[in-house]
Amino acid sequence: MTFPLVGVVGGGQLARMLAPAAIELGIHLHVLAESEDVSATSAARYTVGDYRDLDTLMRFAATVDVLTFDHEHVPTEHLRTLEDSGVAVRPGPEALQYAQDKLKMRSIADELGLPNPVWAAVDSVEALVSFGEEHGWPVVLKTPRGGYDGKGVRVVRTPEEAAETTEWFELDFPALLVEQLVPFSRELSAQVARRPSGEVAIYPIVESLQTDSVCDVVTAPAPGLDPEVAAAAAEAASTLAERLGVVGMLAVELFETPGTGPGFLINELAMRPHNSGHWSMDGAVTGQFEQHLRAVLDLPLGSTQPLGAYTVMKNYLGGANQDLYSAFDRAMSEYPSAKIHAYGKSVRPGRKVGHINVIAATEQDLNQARAIAEGAASVIRDGVPSADSAR
Ligand code: ADP
Repeated sequence: MTFPLVGVVGGGQLARMLAPAAIELGIHLHVLAESEDVSATSAARYTVGDYRDLDTLMRFAATVDVLTFDHEHVPTEHLRTLEDSGVAVRPGPEALQYAQDKLKMRSIADELGLPNPVWAAVDSVEALVSFGEEHGWPVVLKTPRGGYDGKGVRVVRTPEEAAETTEWFELDFPALLVEQLVPFSRELSAQVARRPSGEVAIYPIVESLQTDSVCDVVTAPAPGLDPEVAAAAAEAASTLAERLGVVGMLAVELFETPGTGPGFLINELAMRPHNSGHWSMDGAVTGQFEQHLRAVLDLPLGSTQPLGAYTVMKNYLGGANQDLYSAFDRAMSEYPSAKIHAYGKSVRPGRKVGHINVIAATEQDLNQARAIAEGAASVIRDGVPSADSAR
């Protein structure tokens, strides 16, 4: 057998971060990029093409051994056509539809007996109001498809606010998702990997702190998490991977709800490497990008064992500093234990442009690891350290 070629649809930072893992294993990578200047094009072989166009997808797929994804936006019917014509689509459309469509995801979680918030499919303001009247305000209205980083999500607090959502019901969806506003104590995320022959590998459950609906700081494993909740969440994620036939990495975003049900509710699914798993690149024996490649190639999965008591991952978004590299000297000299990742993207306000990983060797090192991650991120983002950062 020769070393295989993995095709990745989409050229964002997730595709980019598959490249070093592929290089280490001698696996070939080819990215179908949206344009010349997306994140992955400076890191891997690529072709520019439109993932919404079936012919483009077919031509690209014909050159690869397996096809995988940087995002969930390839139309499900195109994925079915690709699969029917013999392409190894991983994850396949039968699984991926549940990460593409939040209404389908809620239905299948109910069917599998997994903990969902109270939800409904609604097709009018009236239906939205009756849901709020029945289950209590506030509620959360979501587009079933196409949302990311909180886009396509709106909190609706009163019947009057519901009346302002008419435009949402004019979008091109047969129905929208409405669910109760969950009074969660924090957000968690479960990552598992599954290969086609069935093996599943489970990472520790992590805490994921969001700022303005964007993943900000991840701590792995989630500090102080009740071991029973952790075990139940890991079980739910592996049930989803197995029952949906996921291939590759699966991230299950969760709300922690102490004292109710199993102590968590499912928020949403991502069937690819996920921001809440970036910690594993430096903090686990097998990082999620290598694990994703192993899984889609049906190779034995790697150990998910953490390398320290905790790993802290801090994202940095586009801020005051336009020239990220100009801050590297200072960030590296002040924070030598920070593992700096940059995505090769131009800086725009609020855009994810990189992240920092810091390992806390022991439990006592967690606060310091947080401060190092925050400090390094702020030096790179703003060109100066934040007031509360420590060395
Ligand atoms: P996206 O697809 O944009 O990531 P999510 O469905 O994950 O959208 O929602 C974005 C954020 O909004 C979540 O991380 C959470 O903070 C908040 N949120 C979403 N649904 C609910 C809910 N039912 N109750 C409370 N907060 C929610």
